[in-house]
Amino acid sequence: MSSDRLKIVWIYPDLLSTYGDQGNTIVLERRAKLRGIPYETVHVRSDQPVPTDGHVYLLGGGEDRPQILAAQRLRADGGLHRAAERGAVVFAVCAGYQLLGTQFGGEEGQPVQGLGLLDITSGRGERRAVGEIVGDVAPELNMPRITGFENHQGVTRLGPGARPLARVVHGVGNGDGYEGAYAGRIIGTYMHGPALVRNPALADLLLRWAIGQDLPPIDDTWANRLREERLNAVLS
Ligand code: GLN
Repeated sequence: MSSDRLKIVWIYPDLLSTYGDQGNTIVLERRAKLRGIPYETVHVRSDQPVPTDGHVYLLGGGEDRPQILAAQRLRADGGLHRAAERGAVVFAVCAGYQLLGTQFGGEEGQPVQGLGLLDITSGRGERRAVGEIVGDVAPELNMPRITGFENHQGVTRLGPGARPLARVVHGVGNGDGYEGAYAGRIIGTYMHGPALVRNPALADLLLRWAIGQDLPPIDDTWANRLREERLNAVLS
């Protein structure tokens, strides 16, 4: 880590905080704290510059118009691009996921230019995907099944520069049998929940990437109960 404090950056609470994904910041803070890792969290509104010295950048879901505005402002600002070029970790959910791509569908399905940080394009599907989602994570990421809640109209296609995050076991995800995408230290997913509450292994993957070392285990009894309850609700 380039400084003595883990810097977590929550992007655009005024535009991309509609679906409770801000909970992902709280999970990273908590899991850092339990391991004695000093941290700070910065909330960056859409009229503020995105700091380039963060370690983990988090983006959440949002409605179609705020999503377009967020993409325009992030492109104009350039801070997230510079951070990603430096190797910062980026974890983006739903609208945040789509806008990391080269293009996504606006409120009438019109193509809107994204940030180009992930090699994905999204359009609008025939119907909204709403409900529980479960996926088996790409084996190279070495973690248990992921669980979340999806609520989107978008369908996402991956280009050769991105790999699917998981194979869908239940739900819709990208719309092609896979869910989410990743490349380097950038991960996008359709999973709300919040995703890191339901999937502590995913939270620890982000933390490991950010601090560059293995982490001691912590007591995940309650997180595991929640996981089991959600997985059983759809798979039994
Ligand atoms: N507006 C996007 C869609 O419907 C994203 C929705 C969301 O973030 N939940 O696909």
